[in-house]
Amino acid sequence: MPPVFNGAAACTAIEYSVASAPTPAIPAHLSDPSARGFTPSANIAFLKESATIAVSTRAKAMKAAGRAVIDLGAGEPDFDTPEFIRRAAAGAVERGATRYTATEGILPLREAIAAEANARYRGAVPVDAKDVVVSTGSKQSLFNLCFALFGAGDEVLIPTPSWTSYYEMAALARATPVPVHGDPARGLTVDAKALAAAATPRTRGVMLNSPCNPTGAVYDAAALRGILALAEERGWWVVTDEIYRRISYDGPAPSLLDMAARRDRLVIVDGVAKAYAMTGWRIGWAIAPRALAAAMTAFQSHTTSNAAAVSQHAALAALSDRAAAEAAIASMVAEFRARRDAVVAEMAAEPRLAYVRPAGAFYLFVRIAPDGAPGDPGAEFAQALLEQHDVAIVPGSAFLTPAWVRLSYAAPREQVLTGVRRLIALWRERAR
Ligand code: PLP
Repeated sequence: MPPVFNGAAACTAIEYSVASAPTPAIPAHLSDPSARGFTPSANIAFLKESATIAVSTRAKAMKAAGRAVIDLGAGEPDFDTPEFIRRAAAGAVERGATRYTATEGILPLREAIAAEANARYRGAVPVDAKDVVVSTGSKQSLFNLCFALFGAGDEVLIPTPSWTSYYEMAALARATPVPVHGDPARGLTVDAKALAAAATPRTRGVMLNSPCNPTGAVYDAAALRGILALAEERGWWVVTDEIYRRISYDGPAPSLLDMAARRDRLVIVDGVAKAYAMTGWRIGWAIAPRALAAAMTAFQSHTTSNAAAVSQHAALAALSDRAAAEAAIASMVAEFRARRDAVVAEMAAEPRLAYVRPAGAFYLFVRIAPDGAPGDPGAEFAQALLEQHDVAIVPGSAFLTPAWVRLSYAAPREQVLTGVRRLIALWRERAR
């Protein structure tokens, strides 16, 4: 697969490999006698397990076998959910939050989400609770909207590198994900010009993510305005995944809600997982034009129904007690910033090693081979780092950038620094 996909070069099946044990010759499901006769349907035949989850599974298995693995693969804050949220959830269970709720989520939570959005949005048609659909994590929100919005024949522009699941979700909806490679000179972000060059008459939308997983890059307001204007001119949908918005180090990360004049083709995806250290509670949401919100609700009503009632109440507490929430976010972001600074200082020891300076989220994206190098150097490197040096990271091929690797600094500071030192040492060993 060539390293650059700009233009209408489309990818329907995502090829990447994973830093894990060597792939067994016989796929696991075929060696399992209870699965005899099973072959995956055309719906999912192209799917691979999420590479990020695969790395963390392998790291856990090595830990279980007694290895002192440093897991820098996971995209999950290493903090406990703040106490005021845990207490509110326990209280909600005692008060009976144990039953089905409305598919789209409890009204007070959707009202709180709408109120937070309206505090920032100055465009036409304020956000109403009816425009909000609460789901089992923002991952489900993204899947719902891909399914409701995109279909066969549609092309979806995906700034690349980007979170591994966007490509698969668009493809599961039978649309064609079109990776648009970011500019290394701008932290691997794209601009309106790059998107325009990749567009065709079939382009139906673009999926943005800022701060970005896997790079930690933050789109500035000017770049976002340019993309919005282009989308408006072309009639594209803009999906903006703002799950890392609150984890930003150089001032608040600009949000499309802050600048959009209208939202009739805009979908904002957010959730409590990252900013509030609530990954396990599984609450995310989409804010969409009313008709799309209704379609997503109908779709969800046939798949999972409502997100867990207790988790919705926990999210409601997170969004309601702002003083406690802001204090918790500030202390977690301060720690992430300190780690970012420490990681960047450590990387200065090896100036030949290129990386994106993270301005948000909690990832460091490092180029371990020249762009365009043959094979999958990132996967090979990640595998060596895990198997020989007990550090789990994610190969860049999971994000369609095989010369890179992603390290998460959502782990104790000393472990992160040890991981970075081992990464640099391995790279030097190989560069000799
Ligand atoms: N979007 C991005 C960019 C992510 O990195 C992740 C999780 O890693 C998600 C969405 C999913 O978050 P949630 O836990 O809300 O499903």
